[in-house]
Amino acid sequence: MPSPRARRILLIDDDRLQHHLVQGFLGRFRSGPWELDVAADYEAGLKKLLSGKYAVCLLDYRLGERDGLELLRAARAADSATPVVFLTADASDEIDDAAMEAGAMDFLVKADLNPRILEHAIRYARKLGETMGQLKQLATRDALTGLHNRREFDRMVAEECQRASRFGHPFALVMADIDFFKKINDTHGHQVGDEVLKHVASLLAGQLRVVDRIARYGGEEFAILMVETERKAAVEGLQRLFALLAETPCQPAGTDLTLNVTLSAGLAVMPDDASACTELIALADKALYAAKHAGRNRVVTAHSLK
Ligand code: GH3
Ligand code: MG
Ligand code: MG
Repeated sequence: MPSPRARRILLIDDDRLQHHLVQGFLGRFRSGPWELDVAADYEAGLKKLLSGKYAVCLLDYRLGERDGLELLRAARAADSATPVVFLTADASDEIDDAAMEAGAMDFLVKADLNPRILEHAIRYARKLGETMGQLKQLATRDALTGLHNRREFDRMVAEECQRASRFGHPFALVMADIDFFKKINDTHGHQVGDEVLKHVASLLAGQLRVVDRIARYGGEEFAILMVETERKAAVEGLQRLFALLAETPCQPAGTDLTLNVTLSAGLAVMPDDASACTELIALADKALYAAKHAGRNRVVTAHSLK
């Protein structure tokens, strides 16, 4: 089934004549009808672009006081994946380079536009956007669970560390590891082990707030970043997770197994426990090992080890 954004284009341009021109071009596309939505200024344009409802965005370089480059950078910073094609009144190598740097898929000069050129640019921008999305997925996600991978998580922690030190926001980092996982593999096979990993991953992901981040950090180890969270709230959040896990055993499809799974977790908070992110990760790890040694199925805070 085509997604709702499959045939919708956003045009951000402060020139209303351009709206009519593009609307006319769209009507002459060989690939059939497209729906056009327009925004006439920076704020409205950015808001619409960030809604993620469009297959492609056509973006004017000059937008009143602001410019399209600024808008494009803001959209990328907010994780927008919608492919953007730049439109400008005058050809300039500098703007062309800057547009490419900012993440534009193409750069078209308004005077050269016709239905064929526009349709062609949109087709290529969509294809390139799709390929980049797939590459990003491969580079940042774990294939088995769909969670972030370790590299992406390390990047997000470093980013959060910077934010935390700049704005003084606290955050919590959790390292959690499935207890006696090797036994599950040894007893029921690797496939059942994989099902258990997916079960734990979806349960953890389902419990977190949208602002929190979770990754598969290693084999059966998960890492969680809870933004703007102090120690007490983080421990309470983990205890709720543990309670949910306890009452939701894993029942791997195609088997009649019911497997109870437990986790051990180590928790460290910024800036209370550490001032640098490598130190924070090391402390959460140390607390995780303490949780294992203390008998598993529990949370240990780095604070309690001081
Ligand atoms: P502990 O309670 O001390 O954490 O013991 P454990 O058995 O959970 O930990 P251990 O490190 O001894 O074993 C982890 C196992 O996880 C070993 C490895 O084969 C398995 N594993 C790692 N990645 C995967 C995977 O993708 N799928 C499956 N099925 N198993 C995996
Ligand atoms: Mg384990
Ligand atoms: Mg392990």
